[in-house]
Amino acid sequence: MPEPAVSPPARPGLALHWKVIIALVLGVIVGASIFEFWSASTWSAIGVGDAAAFRDFKPSDANAGAGIAAGVARFVGGLNEFVGRMFLQTLRFIAVPIVLFSLIIAVAGVGDLRKLGRIGTKTLLCFGFTLIVAVAIAVLLGKFVAPGTFVTPEARAQILAQYAGEAAQRVQTAHQLKDQGVWAYLLGIIPTNPFNAIANAQMMQVVASAFLIGIGLTLIPRERAAPVVGFCEGMAEAVMALVRLIMFFAPIAVFCLIAQFVATVGMGALKSVLAYCLCVVGGLAIVLFIEYPALMYVCTPRANKMTPGRFFRGMAPAATLAFSSSSSSATLPVTIQCARDRLGVPADIANFVCPIGTTLNMDGTALYQVISVLFLAQLYGIELTLAQHITVGIMSAVVAVGTPGLPGASVIMMAIVLESVGVPTEGIAIILAVDRVLDMSRTIVNVSGDAVACVVVAGSEMGVATPAR
Ligand code: ASP
Repeated sequence: MPEPAVSPPARPGLALHWKVIIALVLGVIVGASIFEFWSASTWSAIGVGDAAAFRDFKPSDANAGAGIAAGVARFVGGLNEFVGRMFLQTLRFIAVPIVLFSLIIAVAGVGDLRKLGRIGTKTLLCFGFTLIVAVAIAVLLGKFVAPGTFVTPEARAQILAQYAGEAAQRVQTAHQLKDQGVWAYLLGIIPTNPFNAIANAQMMQVVASAFLIGIGLTLIPRERAAPVVGFCEGMAEAVMALVRLIMFFAPIAVFCLIAQFVATVGMGALKSVLAYCLCVVGGLAIVLFIEYPALMYVCTPRANKMTPGRFFRGMAPAATLAFSSSSSSATLPVTIQCARDRLGVPADIANFVCPIGTTLNMDGTALYQVISVLFLAQLYGIELTLAQHITVGIMSAVVAVGTPGLPGASVIMMAIVLESVGVPTEGIAIILAVDRVLDMSRTIVNVSGDAVACVVVAGSEMGVATPAR
């Protein structure tokens, strides 16, 4: 693929990943301070009796005394939310075109179906290997740390009551998905109308469409395919140039997203299920800091090893964005950019592996599902047999592959795993209480896993280059 005509904006001073990390820390500090010190009495001190109505611009007599200070507070809160959402929305705008065009040129660019099969097989093998290791780590941690035995019955009853309604909704959605049946689900991967799939951002279907069009292009004479491939290359480069531009604003957006999250959610429920949270985060850390670096180290050529330092420095913008957005789909454009520009993965491999990985490769999600199901079984005093532990592992792996890269998606899918071993689905209420923080953490692993697969496949094909910057 030709080099981009538009070079990234000059970045004087601090590297982007440091700016994003500093923004993340500042966002947590500001959000936690607001959560701690801004209460109902602060609102009433500035003349607001009904804060919810005031924030939503609804008329209320209780807010008759609201003055300039209240207006400024509302404006700052609204602006903060706007900036964070705007950033994510712009990335979502890019997600469908990037999957479509990158994958078409990646598949068509491979040129012959044998090579495509080889790269595809390596990619799937890498996804499968990291998934199995992640699930094994989760089963061992869930069984031997036994986080469910640390929760007091009072805390359990309180959280169950608080989140029961929300949990019931998720279980209902899971039933609708399950009732669809596995054959219907598989059939649904191929869209009857690719334009419909694109219009509705059905990622799995967009991947399938791009794949089929790419294969079609390899089957026709080169000169007939060239204009279409050229168009897709131009569009993919334009979209990547937009990503680089948008990433310029990432530090501000990350600050806004995190500050808003911490200011509204707080960390209260975390304390009563701390052992469970630590177990999930510990498992994710093992995958991220031990499994992935070891695999990349083994699979990259001796002359150009992918060291952990190089990998994590290169992936920092994507990882911090995954953490703040909880969405691997929204992070996809940045994942591709990090893999190509910062890790030195050839564009055709990054364009091929990342879009597929975002839809299929979810190690963090699988690990989280296993530990959560074992945690709930322990909490309800249900003794699972060895066969049931294996069932939880297999079901979580399968369900993770079908989980979309969206915030909170796996809590819905978890109901299917819970039912497979007879653990009450109401338990999802307990998981929901702390899900957002764990979602942010597992999304980092999901996104990093895609870049790991890029590095491994590139290492086995032709090696990774030293990044340009
Ligand atoms: N939020 C996760 C992702 O986007 C999916 C999930 O586990 O809920 O990768």
